Amino acid sequence: MGNYDVTIIGAGLAGLQCARLLGRKGLRVLLVDRKNTLDQKIHTTGIFVRRTLLDFDIPDDCLGPAIKHVTLYSPALRSMEFVSEHDEFRIGRMGQLYHRYLQQCLLAGVEWLPETSYLGYDSTNGKLTVRLGDDEVTTRYLIGADGARSRVARDLQLDQNREWIVGVESVYEGAVLDGPPRLLCFLDPELAPGYIAWIAHDGEEAHLGVGGYSANFDPIAALETFRSRVAHIIDLRNAKQIERRAGYIPVGGVLRNIANTHGLLLGDAAGAVSPLTAGGLDPCMRLSAFAAQVVGEYLSSGNPQALSAYSGELFRARFASRLWARRIAANLNQRQLIELGCAVLRFPLINRIARHVFFGRGSFPDVSQEVADRYSERLCPKS
Ligand SMILES: Cc1cc2nc3c(=O)[nH]c(=O)nc-3n(C[C@H](O)[C@H](O)[C@H](O)COP(=O)(O)OP(=O)(O)OC[C@H]3O[C@@H](n4cnc5c(N)ncnc54)[C@H](O)[C@@H]3O)c2cc1C
Repeated sequence: MGNYDVTIIGAGLAGLQCARLLGRKGLRVLLVDRKNTLDQKIHTTGIFVRRTLLDFDIPDDCLGPAIKHVTLYSPALRSMEFVSEHDEFRIGRMGQLYHRYLQQCLLAGVEWLPETSYLGYDSTNGKLTVRLGDDEVTTRYLIGADGARSRVARDLQLDQNREWIVGVESVYEGAVLDGPPRLLCFLDPELAPGYIAWIAHDGEEAHLGVGGYSANFDPIAALETFRSRVAHIIDLRNAKQIERRAGYIPVGGVLRNIANTHGLLLGDAAGAVSPLTAGGLDPCMRLSAFAAQVVGEYLSSGNPQALSAYSGELFRARFASRLWARRIAANLNQRQLIELGCAVLRFPLINRIARHVFFGRGSFPDVSQEVADRYSERLCPKS
């Protein structure tokens, strides 16, 4: 039975980011995933936004060419172009990136346990015994980075995601799309109820996907219909499908209660996804960095007050407008209304709002130590 300071369940972007940072602090970290290799069953398109690329060390060779162009299509396929003066997006080569971050974890002394499922944990005298497949380990702290339907969240009696959309996409090599690398977003309440259908093409890889509320559509059938509907836009005749990706995307906003003295949640498990754009990669990087700071402090001081700063309440306030926009998107199911909305986008003010959604620098909030300290002081005033 191994003995660790921190056991992290899930080696997606959130778990990997947190593991490498905690390993670098000299903590004994165990990283566990039920996958046997990290380039399997990827469930993200992998679009990184400019702010993430500027703020974090994502290796250049794990990213595709830069994208500046976005085309938005109405249900009747009327298009509208948005072009940024900056390189706004890059599509991650996610299998390669996960492997690179795993190498960095191993270099930092993290122990890696693949092909192992987390089954539960018990707590006695401040030590946690974690059941992993046929084995058990003891740990001082448990981190749930196990995705949108987190079992760790349930066991830790923390908040759990309640609202999802589902996304499914095919990844192609050899697809032909005229013009520069671009993202194409399609508003269509039948193909993608409450979200969008998309083509992300960076000149090397093309991702064709649909997302929406699962009660309102059949994602696989919608993807097939979408593929034939865009045959005049993207030529897939000589393209090779290299992957199929799918997954749940929590869109209810970051959860309120995401930490206690036994453990905490990261990434999708914490609901840390933009309710409007469904982007979760930037929150994975930022929230995991903050978690590594908080957990390091908690384990070295033993003071539970260090954890009080890791609260969804601190982030949620910043998501108010995006949560409103999600409510509107969830109920927008009439083609004519969306068509009208797209026409209105040609007005300068509305057009600026759309540009802001695509190219704005807003992302998951950074929490400075000062803000975190003020928050924990408010919750637990020093006597
Ligand atoms: C189709 C799709 C496209 C998307 N595209 C984008 C995009 O382009 N840009 C963007 O910013 N966001 C995107 N998102 C959202 C983003 O991908 C996620 O928010 C992000 O990948 C979540 O990372 P994570 O590490 O929290 O979880 P995950 O990547 O889900 O990792 C969880 C890990 O936990 C493991 N695990 C789960 N349960 C157990 C268990 N019991 N025992 C052991 N291991 C376990 C899983 O095997 C998995 O490896 C997309 C989501 C989907 C579904």
